[in-house]
Amino acid sequence: MTSQDWLARLVAIDTTSRNSNLGLIETVRDDLRARGLDPWLSSNAEGTKANLFCTLPAQDGGTQGGIALSGHTDTVPVDGQDWSSAPFTLTERDGRLYARGSCDMKGFIACTMALVPEFLATPRAKPLHLALSYDEEIACIGAPLMLADLQQRGVKVDGAIVGEPTSMQPVVAHKGLNAWRCRVHGKAAHSSLTPQGCNAIEHAAQLICAIREMAEQWRANGPFDQFYDVPYSTITTNLIGGGIAMNTIPQLCEFTYEFRNLPMLSPADIQGRIDAYVRTELLPRMQREFPGATVEIENLAAAPGLDASEQAAITQLVRALTADKSVRKVAYGTEAGLFQGAGIPTVVCGPGSIEQAHKVDEFVAIDQLAQCEKFLREVAASL
Ligand SMILES: [Zn+2]
Repeated sequence: MTSQDWLARLVAIDTTSRNSNLGLIETVRDDLRARGLDPWLSSNAEGTKANLFCTLPAQDGGTQGGIALSGHTDTVPVDGQDWSSAPFTLTERDGRLYARGSCDMKGFIACTMALVPEFLATPRAKPLHLALSYDEEIACIGAPLMLADLQQRGVKVDGAIVGEPTSMQPVVAHKGLNAWRCRVHGKAAHSSLTPQGCNAIEHAAQLICAIREMAEQWRANGPFDQFYDVPYSTITTNLIGGGIAMNTIPQLCEFTYEFRNLPMLSPADIQGRIDAYVRTELLPRMQREFPGATVEIENLAAAPGLDASEQAAITQLVRALTADKSVRKVAYGTEAGLFQGAGIPTVVCGPGSIEQAHKVDEFVAIDQLAQCEKFLREVAASL
């Protein structure tokens, strides 16, 4: 099967993050098994989603070291988007292949699967590994489980390539992403009796302003890294709800905020500043009005940033194969930071442009798939 055949097969399975990805995982697993390989799955607690990891051993049967090719199997939804063709049917127009996930990032997985027979026929001193995850699009939920399993099974990998769409150019760094939900609990009262209540919305607003203040400080004073399109860390409040009636002091206000930190800033330190503000300023103020007031903050997502070393063998290999020396750092997150955190040097490089990801009429250019195939063949040959 060609990459295009594989892509048609993969996009036909609707793996929007809210759905199970097992149809796709089983398709891949069965193909690998039929080639005599031994893929293993790691599932979520409900058994509705799974990661897949498969080692293509070295010529001497060795399974340690080598390079992992990594991709996520889920996609973002098509809800509310007006597609020109059916989003789960691969459609070719003008040298482009349209479908949800064609670019982000089933194209890379399709190339990898199409080349498995060639990888197996390539004499290699080191193994090649396939690492497919679930729920990347909802804050990299699946990959940590796979990485923990790798560690438990004593599998060592020398380097990883995460095939997110980068137009086949190496990306060596990206920001971290952390999302949090905050619930501010005050006390309800008739709105004419303000001294008897504790207004959750107003106190939440003060915390939101403090968060905004942090954002402005970073923007004005850094730290900066000019290689990023947004060269400083950001923090922003993106959802809010609270109150039950126009004439009732609200008991509850809930909001979510997220920050995207440059890899040199620690997410724990950033959240620590927010926690300190809540503890020393916000809560005492609220509890003067109502001793039972509380503020709960819960982590919804945590994906570490990536900061690949130029000296790492994987960085040098990807730079050599793509003949690309530019330092590219991006604002969007990937699983690469998790791999790096697990001690596996990692670079992001894959077919398609991030410009097309997540959008209506997502596509990958056929030419990008061809470039990716050439690149992957050379990766295998390098081993
Ligand atoms: Zn992606």
